[in-house]
Amino acid sequence: MGNLLHNAGVCLEYYRELIREGQLRVGDGEAARCLSPLFERSVAVGEEVSLAELYPRPSPHRVFNNSLELLRGGWPTPLLKISEGPGEAYAKLEWFNPFSASVKDRTVYYLLKSVEGDRIVEVSSGNVAVALAALGNVLGKRVKIYIPTAGRYVVPLLNYLGAEWQILDVSMTVEALEHLEKDIREGAVHPNQFGNDLNFVAHLKTAAEIDWQLAALGKKPDYIIAGIGTSGHASALGFYFGVRYGTKLVAVQPRDWIPGIRRVETGMKWIKLVEAEIVDISLEEALRGVREFAKRHGLLIGPSAGAVYSAYLKNSYRGVTVLVFPDSLFKYTPLLEQLSV
Ligand code: PLP
Repeated sequence: MGNLLHNAGVCLEYYRELIREGQLRVGDGEAARCLSPLFERSVAVGEEVSLAELYPRPSPHRVFNNSLELLRGGWPTPLLKISEGPGEAYAKLEWFNPFSASVKDRTVYYLLKSVEGDRIVEVSSGNVAVALAALGNVLGKRVKIYIPTAGRYVVPLLNYLGAEWQILDVSMTVEALEHLEKDIREGAVHPNQFGNDLNFVAHLKTAAEIDWQLAALGKKPDYIIAGIGTSGHASALGFYFGVRYGTKLVAVQPRDWIPGIRRVETGMKWIKLVEAEIVDISLEEALRGVREFAKRHGLLIGPSAGAVYSAYLKNSYRGVTVLVFPDSLFKYTPLLEQLSV
């Protein structure tokens, strides 16, 4: 299930055709295997699937029967017009996801739905940890998280959610992966946000959601600006909109360190599938972006969102630009105190 994009990218070809044409006749078992996780149902050979099925179905009255319904019925997350440059810009506010208040609810929802077993182990220094602990509770799975030192600030949240955790003396999430092996040998399942293609697939749906929102305004994006950690959301958005409209992807990496995002050369799977302009942003610039956004719009965006916003302000983007803001500033207050910036 996690290796959808292997086999010489067969699945990508089906996704490409679906996105380009808006529909696709499922020709064989391979196509059905690739499309089923995207559509979250068993897609049958011979049926015609439509991109429109991936569009959100928001709850008009915002009354929900349980917290999973709150996640899915809460989509689309807001798209906020923030135009400041020569073109039009919209910010996708992903902290409106209810579990981790971040874009990672989407990834984790897809990952957890696919894994069997009731014990989960993962490495994360932030939003994935919180989303896994929270959704694990809802789906009846026990969760253990290994946390690199920089991710200490999520520990109180994991404690309240009742997840197990262990801090590791490593600086990056990827370096901690080897510590999982013992748990895996003892029967825990590792969803693997860094390698599981469902991370990418989850965000093809995020892309369809943004497409649906912009289409209501009669628009399509010329640029997507997004930060890269696993590269799941930036790559999927870049892929979807690149195929559909020739949209350009601007991928934001930290010059030094920014929570949630990493430099491309530290190794990430999906960014290789798309063409992207890579932009370096320092922590100082990212936090200046946070301040600037707060001053202009009154909203406290997270540091990686600040990096995305800072990348946007550096350039005069024409046409329509979509900026993805993965989370808000609230869970970073312990970090901000340490940084004294
Ligand atoms: N920003 C924040 C705050 C995150 O938590 C993450 C991922 O954990 C990202 C950006 C990067 O997202 P992705 O892993 O989809 O590249």
